[in-house]
Amino acid sequence: MTIMDFVDLHTHTQASDGTDDPAELVRKALTLGLRAVAVTDHDTLAGLDAAQEAGWAYGITVIRGCEVSATSPYGEVHILGLWLPHDAGPLAAVLESQRQQRERRNHSIVEKLNAHGMPLTYDDVLAAAAGETVGRPHIAAALMKRGYTSSVREGFKKWLGSGGKAFVPRKTLALEEAVRLLAGLGATVSIAHPRLIHCPHPWLEATIAALKPCGLTALEAYHSEHSEAAQRHCVDIAARHGLELTGGSDYHGQTKPDIALGTGRGALRVPVFVLEKLEAARRQRGLPV
Ligand code: AMP
Ligand code: ZN
Ligand code: FE
Ligand code: FE
Repeated sequence: MTIMDFVDLHTHTQASDGTDDPAELVRKALTLGLRAVAVTDHDTLAGLDAAQEAGWAYGITVIRGCEVSATSPYGEVHILGLWLPHDAGPLAAVLESQRQQRERRNHSIVEKLNAHGMPLTYDDVLAAAAGETVGRPHIAAALMKRGYTSSVREGFKKWLGSGGKAFVPRKTLALEEAVRLLAGLGATVSIAHPRLIHCPHPWLEATIAALKPCGLTALEAYHSEHSEAAQRHCVDIAARHGLELTGGSDYHGQTKPDIALGTGRGALRVPVFVLEKLEAARRQRGLPV
């Protein structure tokens, strides 16, 4: 099957917690017939050059992005920066310190797992990771390898997720800080999967209003884990607040084997006009595409 008139603006590679190497992911996007793919790894820019070079080689548009975590009263909020410049100096420094926070947290999680009778080592976790950003999915993979859980999802449910027995919170950026940082680099700044935030709807709208002056320009309406109603809700909110729309599968390869590149759980389609509108808005603001 090819999906010619569609794009995927939210994907993860081995640079963080996906399992495809960046060039492989871009090749898969080409094979599917996608018009464009954005690589948006957590807290790292390490996969972007390889992905972009693959895009040039294969003739498919690759958008440089990243997904940054921020703190809210309702848990983590993820912010996507799209069209990052090659030279993202200030961002690179902040991401480096975010990865250090992750490392501290990962060690605490491993200690908790050890206390629960699972003799996992930090080397087991590192062996499950291939890139710069090491996170809970790699710990889940290490648990799977040792036979302590049968899937990444089960590992989150039992141990690593916010209700799990080995959960440890992580210090992330303030929302305003994350948005300002990405906007300052000329990125298109979008709240990722807004309906996965466990917050009251009025809080989401108030937060959007507060983040607009910081440089928020978009909402991720189209996402593998948004129902049609959630998607419609996001489109409505975006219209009310004058925000653009972004969309993507949040593909992670084998980390989330039920989410396919381009099509998510099967029904997701992000039309190419979503990309064209984002590009037009950037041109209007004098930003490169
Ligand atoms: P971390 O970045 O270390 O906090 O881990 C969070 C990441 O793990 C998210 O960005 C997702 O990619 C993944 N994740 C979160 N919850 C689950 C889950 N229930 N099952 C599988 N993967 C998950
Ligand atoms: Zn992830
Ligand atoms: Fe996310
Ligand atoms: Fe993501």
